[in-house]
Amino acid sequence: IEFIQESMMEGVNVDQELPIESIQKSALEKLQEDRKSLPIYSYREDLLQAINDHQVLVIVGETGSGKTTQIPQYLHEAGYTKRGKIGCTQPRRVAAMSVAARVSHEMGIKLGNEVGYSIRFEDCTSEKTTLKYMTDGMLLREFLGEPDLASYSVIMIDEAHERTLSTDILFGLVKDVARFRPDLKLLISSATLDAEKFSDYFDCAPIFKIPGRRFSVEIHYTKAPEADYMDAAVVTALQIHVTQPPGDILIFLTGQEEIEAAEEIIKHRIRGLGSKIAELIICPIYANLPTELQAKIFEPTPEGARKVVLATNIAETSLTIDGIKYVIDPGFAKMKSYNPRTGMESLQVTPISKASANQRAGRSGRTGPGKCFRLYTAHNYMNDLADNTVPEIQRTNLANVVLSLKSHGIVELLNFDFMDPPPSEALLKALELLFALGALNKLGELTTIGRRMAEFPLDPMLSKTIVTSDKYKCSDEIISIAAMLSVENSIFYRPKDKQVHADNARLNFHTGNVEDHIALLKVYNSWKETNFSTQWCYDNYIQVRSMKRARDIRDQLEGLLERVEIKLTSNVNDLEAIKKSITSGFFPHTARLQKAGSYRTVKHPQTVNIHPSSGLSHELPRWVVYHELVLTSKEYMRQVTELKPEWLVEIAPHYYQLKDVEDSSSKKMPRGIGRAP
Ligand code: ADP
Ligand code: MG
Repeated sequence: IEFIQESMMEGVNVDQELPIESIQKSALEKLQEDRKSLPIYSYREDLLQAINDHQVLVIVGETGSGKTTQIPQYLHEAGYTKRGKIGCTQPRRVAAMSVAARVSHEMGIKLGNEVGYSIRFEDCTSEKTTLKYMTDGMLLREFLGEPDLASYSVIMIDEAHERTLSTDILFGLVKDVARFRPDLKLLISSATLDAEKFSDYFDCAPIFKIPGRRFSVEIHYTKAPEADYMDAAVVTALQIHVTQPPGDILIFLTGQEEIEAAEEIIKHRIRGLGSKIAELIICPIYANLPTELQAKIFEPTPEGARKVVLATNIAETSLTIDGIKYVIDPGFAKMKSYNPRTGMESLQVTPISKASANQRAGRSGRTGPGKCFRLYTAHNYMNDLADNTVPEIQRTNLANVVLSLKSHGIVELLNFDFMDPPPSEALLKALELLFALGALNKLGELTTIGRRMAEFPLDPMLSKTIVTSDKYKCSDEIISIAAMLSVENSIFYRPKDKQVHADNARLNFHTGNVEDHIALLKVYNSWKETNFSTQWCYDNYIQVRSMKRARDIRDQLEGLLERVEIKLTSNVNDLEAIKKSITSGFFPHTARLQKAGSYRTVKHPQTVNIHPSSGLSHELPRWVVYHELVLTSKEYMRQVTELKPEWLVEIAPHYYQLKDVEDSSSKKMPRGIGRAP
């Protein structure tokens, strides 16, 4: 690939590294020294003073300056934890876990004691915990039980610039709490410079700037657009490895699948290069990477070797990896998009914004001058990239948030103090959906069903499925399915060299034309029958780790069932009951078979296809209910199960009328016509 250097990103405030004399120091002493070498350390006293003087403070500092790991420790050292916990929110699970681990390490204590983290379905805290890292979504849920956050003395909304949906909602809630709790300190920290906006929102709160240590970065663009950015990224990484001076490489990819694929390709090509070249250590990092492997990215690179980190957006600002000198930026990220007219939400690979591109480039200039290779042209950058990423609240389905606000007692959503309000169609759509699901009544008030649904940290459609399973006497099966659907990683293992075996193993769970949801149940139950055997997972090409996670989630869902007074009842042989429960939550996600073998959604007609990973085989059902839509080369439905159209009228008469489901013959069509590859 040919690159041209187009511009430089200037460095700022490059201060001298502290001279470190290392004469046999204990690891803890070494860590304490590392803490002192962070840019934030010189501002420790001023920062504590500012926090003391103001209730709300906006803190801005370059990624890696020490905001997330140090500020809570400073507050602890200054005695704030005597008055209550310090809560620090992170938009990403991995960041919450990794940062908590780092801080407990720096403090020389075991994770889960004084320092802990809390993410959905995983609570690693104890009574002793005073420094609590958590996802923003978890703090939102804590609000339900503790609307005044009485157990906290400080709340730090970190990575505020990410503007996730939960962070945006938290802004409104904590702003309100701060008014009647003058003793609560509120810190809003961000890596980017549009801090004015946060300050304005929080009634002109002062801004505390931590000058960063940033070196200059050379920006290179490709001469021509790249058709295959994965391939281009790999080629560029290898070019750097072979021709450039030492320094680690960071490649931004869009998700786990891409990262795993890139890892394979790099390994393969390296073998082809022979034994003369230096060792290249490949470190993947993405949202659901197992904890043990997460630590690997922070290990120093051995002398003579080079590290290449394959990361999602998580490495943009949430995690700082020392030693990165080269950044490869294909210019894409996986993002949710939502059409408020149709109510359809899908995940898709989307070009990033200029702000993101500049954050990414900045990752290469932390410890010395860096280089950033953009796999797009300078013209693309100037003309095609938006300045900033649209806040999630403006491109997502709001049903979940509306349900949780309603259960917080916030009735007048249109008057909620949003930093950037969502489109009003999206709010209306959410209200409509919650009404259709029976969570709200005609007046927009929470119903008993809605109250029960809000207890589950799940999408409202999935919560509704669980709540209705009571009626169909199959709550036992439904929580297993819900848990399997909530596992972030893939359940099935499909190694490149054994794809055929893996696919056959997977199809076994579909024997008898069993649909996707039911197959998930079969997998779970079969595993349970073997007493949760690891060997069984290996034999069946199932990811042990994902199954353990499913079991944990299931246990928690079982606990929540009890809380909303739903009995655990099993009805494993009545597939119709199970499918009706699913339909009662997912009836807005239904599609009807078309002549060409594709499907058309029933409400707001749109052409969709069955995802290639689906086990639906032999014959395509005429009517299906699906879990989610993903947009790759086409709109695909993922996790698909057959339904009878008359159920729609029976289960959701306010949503579907007979005319919607007229063609109710349940004839099937032979498989193979026009189905996606
Ligand atoms: P900020 O929040 O300002 O971006 P952090 O507090 O996350 O900065 O990071 C400060 C320093 O701590 C960085 O140099 C980073 O390399 C280091 N660090 C953070 N997390 C870890 C970890 N899990 N392992 C090793 N080092 C870490
Ligand atoms: Mg941080």
